[in-house]
Amino acid sequence: MCLDFGRKARNAGPVSILGSYTITGVDQELIFSPNAIEYMRMQRQSKIWQAEAGGQLFAKVTPCEIFVVEATGPRATDVRTRTTYRPDRRAEQEEIHDRFKRGLVYVGDWHTHPDKLPSPSARDAHSMVECFSKSRHNLRAFILVIVGSGSDWLDSFVALYSGKGVLQMLQGRGAKE
Ligand SMILES: [Zn+2]
Repeated sequence: MCLDFGRKARNAGPVSILGSYTITGVDQELIFSPNAIEYMRMQRQSKIWQAEAGGQLFAKVTPCEIFVVEATGPRATDVRTRTTYRPDRRAEQEEIHDRFKRGLVYVGDWHTHPDKLPSPSARDAHSMVECFSKSRHNLRAFILVIVGSGSDWLDSFVALYSGKGVLQMLQGRGAKE
């Protein structure tokens, strides 16, 4: 029996099950709360003048699941253009400490891209690998979400990264047939 926060919330319905993924090799599920998905989708670059936005992902982590409860950002101190997003590292650390006190663990990053079907840039991939390698944590992987300009969550990119690169593609270009 493996029932946790995310599964309980989902089973209690009517909750969107759009953001629910099976992680291979372990009996662990990745579940995004509808709030977290909606928060990221609200920042999407649907207008030509909108700059990239992004932030961090915080979850309740149990042996059974990673339940992403909250997506943060962007902050006034981030550097943002139409095609780049550079987060304020100090603000990120403050968020991590603050959420940790509330039982939420940093599990990854998200940001937007101006295209409809986003895929990670070389810089995006490199920064996930570096972040995974340099941070102190007990996770097998960090999550990267890239939200495109369209309204369909299923067009966004979702993948797991370890210190060696992509561990598992969960959604987006390259994951679909
Ligand atoms: Zn990017």
